[in-house]
Parts: sequence; structure tokens; C-alpha cells
Amino acid sequence: MDIKETMEKLQNFINGTYCPPKNGQYIDNYEPATGKVYSLIPDSDASDVEDAVDAAEKAFPIWSGMSNEERSAVLIRLSEGIQNNMELFVNAESKDNGKPRKLAAHVDIPRAVSNFHFFATAIIHFASESHHMEGVGINYTLRKPIGIVGCISPWNLPLYLFSWKIAPALAAGNCVIAKPSEITPYTAYLLGKIAKEAGMPDGVLNIIHGSGAKAGDAIIKHPKIKAISFTGGTKTGAYIAQTAAPMFKKLSLELGGKNPTLIFDDCDFDDMMKTVLRSSFSNQGQICLCGSRLFIQRGIYERFKTVFVEKVGKIKVANPEHPEAIMGAVVSEPHMEKVLSYIRLAEEEGGTILTGGNRVMLEAPYADGYYLRPTVIEGLAYDCRTNQEEIFGPVVTLTPFDTEEEVLKMANSTEYGLAASVWTSELKRAHRVAEQLEVGIVWTNSWLVRDLRTPFGGVKSSGVGREGGWEALRFFTEPKNVFVSY
Ligand code: NAD
Repeated sequence: MDIKETMEKLQNFINGTYCPPKNGQYIDNYEPATGKVYSLIPDSDASDVEDAVDAAEKAFPIWSGMSNEERSAVLIRLSEGIQNNMELFVNAESKDNGKPRKLAAHVDIPRAVSNFHFFATAIIHFASESHHMEGVGINYTLRKPIGIVGCISPWNLPLYLFSWKIAPALAAGNCVIAKPSEITPYTAYLLGKIAKEAGMPDGVLNIIHGSGAKAGDAIIKHPKIKAISFTGGTKTGAYIAQTAAPMFKKLSLELGGKNPTLIFDDCDFDDMMKTVLRSSFSNQGQICLCGSRLFIQRGIYERFKTVFVEKVGKIKVANPEHPEAIMGAVVSEPHMEKVLSYIRLAEEEGGTILTGGNRVMLEAPYADGYYLRPTVIEGLAYDCRTNQEEIFGPVVTLTPFDTEEEVLKMANSTEYGLAASVWTSELKRAHRVAEQLEVGIVWTNSWLVRDLRTPFGGVKSSGVGREGGWEALRFFTEPKNVFVSY
């Protein structure tokens, strides 16, 4: 018997019910830690999306007709449902993605809980604008849900980013057709049941699994899906914009990055070192906000290099279950090959590998897993391909600089502009540099401190639009101005 016949088959969640893909086709789902297929995912197509849209259309008057308080209560219960099933979600996320279990337990799943909780409460406090015209009348703005919206998310922070989109979409009263990455579908699959138990009406949240080319494409092209919130690669984002913009869909695109970390001579060295190790290699370097280009001021360059390389050399790469694992497996074999090819490119471009640069071979049952040593490279020009293109793995480059002007030029030199971090003890410089960085997010003397109310997103090829707080609720509502004459 084919082993795949005995494997778990994930299902779509449409109209409050789990169902197989209509075409009966499935895609292999790999466990990065072992390199083995461990479950099968629906290879859904336009016919499944059609069913989801039908269900969403029927559910929309019910969901949008509920008060903000009523929708809020459902979303709070959903948030609690994830919290109450923490173990299940943590294990699933770590197995599906390859990230250390500890990371899923401390970051990914708690953050998914907060995303639902945050937008459940935000919607109760959301208010629309009014504009008074003295002696003439008053304009007030109605903000109504858009209708049916599409949410498409990537594999690096699966439930975290999936919930970051669907929570505000649902809170604002929309019905959602959501597609997680086909590389990490499992926690989104589990979410259907939790939504049902939370009392979400059938058809409000529909979760379709499958490839970008088939299921994703059907979502972005469906004429009844009026807005698309997408997080993923810049190339995919460009394709989505090209396809959906002529249909006049509202678009929010959160795309790639190549984030700079600016380290000045006068920073608090120990504090900086502790955080920069995290900002470089957390989640195997697969966080869109990780800093992959480290610019270090000349006065501390040698000291930084010695300490950093020594500490990076000690980072434990192990199977995700290992209690001491700091890094687990990268997400897939093609992704591992892509990262390794960039390391070879860096060498061709004249870079010197100071530590790492290779795959890590663990013992069975992890012998075929996708493990990479965290890698530090120096000696590259700031404008070479290694320093300009997104690698999205555990690879950082070190570049010395002398002046603020020089580092700003190098930091701003890529097509991307998502995030940056700046390390300095000089208050004025921190503000001055933050102001001149061409990015959507700057952390000074810190990294990844997240306040869910703040605007989140990038400039240049890192995206269009902002998520977070009121920005997300505004995106997922359609404003209508009403004028009342005196
Ligand atoms: P990806 O673009 O390959 O895929 C993202 C999602 O889009 C997946 O669900 C995929 O199935 C879907 N998709 C692919 N082609 C599609 C199409 N033609 N139509 C509709 N949907 C399609 O990206 P990825 O490899 O999953 O994720 C990594 C990328 O995501 C990196 O570039 C990273 O920087 C970026 N990212 C950005 C942010 C941010 O907030 N800016 C956050 C996380 C990840």
C-alpha cells in the first residue's frame, strides 16, 4: 500500500465545514526537521474558491449585521480557543515550519492569540471621522465593511501572520477567504474548528489550502473578492498588483526586505550584541524584520567581529524539539538550496565566510532535515548582489563605516525598505538617522518590540499600505462621506 494513503489529509474549511478539495488532488506537506512528507494538503482550485465565495456571500449580511460588540465576543472566544489549545498549536507550528518549539511557544502562537484579542477589542473603540464646516454643515464618514476579502499569507510566521490579517478583516465585519502558505498549512487548518467552537457563523471565515498558482490565483482573480491583503515575496506582490489592480480591488501588500542594522561606536555594546544576535538569526533568519546587513562603525568593528563571530559559532542548531535549540531547520529543501546558493555567490563576489556557510547534518531521524549553520560574511561591497537581494535565511554580512552619511547611503541603497535598527547612545543621532532611513519601521537600541497599534509595513519594493491598529481597520472598511447641511 502507498504510504501516502495512510497519511493525514488536511481539508479546506468552507461554510463552517471541513471538506476535501473538489478535484481530489493533494500536495505533499514536508516536515523540515526530518525532510519527510508527513501529511497531504488540498491542491484546491477555482471551484473550491467559488464554493467559499458562495458561502461568504450568504454569511455577509449576518456577520456585518451583528454589532461590533457581538463580533468582538466571537473573536475573543476564538482567541481563547487558541490559548486553550496552546500545546496543539505550538507542536503543529514547530513541526510544519521547522522552528524551535520554544519559539513557537513564546512568539508565534501567543502572538496569534493577541492578534485576535487585539482586534476584537480595537473594533469596539474604532471611530470614524467627522469634519465640521462652520455655518455650512457637517460631514461625517461612515465606515462599512467591504464585503468579501482575500487574505494570503507566507510560511515564515504561519499562524502569526495569518491571524494578523484575518483578525482585523473579521472584526470590521467582512467575510474572509483565507489561504495560508502551502508550505506551512497546519495551524491554519486547525483554526477552522476553533472558529466554529467560538460561535463564528458558517461562511464567515473560509480557509482554502493549495498552491499560489492555483488557489491563490483564483482568490486574487475572483470578481466578488473586493480586497486582497497579501504578505509574501516582492515578485508575487507585483503579480498580484498587476492582476488585481485593473479589477479595482483594494490592495495591501507586505513584501520582502533587506534590512540594515546600524551599529555606532557609542552604543551599549553588551545590550547591542545580545539583541543583534537575535535580530540576525531568530527563526533561522526567516523573519521579514531580521537585520541581514550589519553596518558597524570602524572604531568597534574588530571588537564587534571577534565577539559576534565567537557567539554565532556557539549557536545551537538542533531539531526543533531539542530544549536547547536556538535554531531549528529552515523551511524547505528549495529554500535551503537558495540560501546555500547565496553563500556561494558571496564567495564569488569576494566575501570571506567568518563562520558557518554550510549545511548541518544531524543524526537520524533528522539526517535529511534542512539545517544550516548561522553564517557571517565580511569583505563584500555594499552594492553587490549578496548585499542587495533578499536571502531570507541565517546569513548576515558585516560592513565597516566611518560616517553617518556613508552608512545612510549604504543602508538606503537597496530596492527594499521594510525595517532598520539603529544602535547609538547619542539621542540626537538616533532621531536624525531614523528620520533619514528609507524604511517603514525603525527600532533604536532595540529590535522587534511590537506595539500592535502602530503602522506596520514597508516602502519601495517592500510593499504598499500599512497593517496594524487603525490602519488595518481602515483598510478593511470602505469610507463613505455624508454631508448634512445646516
Ligand atoms: P510567496 O510570495 O512565495 O508566497 C506567499 C503566499 O502567496 C503563499 O500563500 C503563496 O501560496 C501565495 N502565492 C504565491 N503565488 C501566488 C499567486 N500567483 N497568486 C496568489 N497567491 C500566490 O512568499 P513566501 O516564500 O511564502 O514568503 C517569503 C517572503 O515573504 C519573503 O520575501 C519575506 O520577506 C516576505 N515576508 C514579508 C513580510 C512583511 O511583513 N513585509 C512578512 C513575512 C514575510
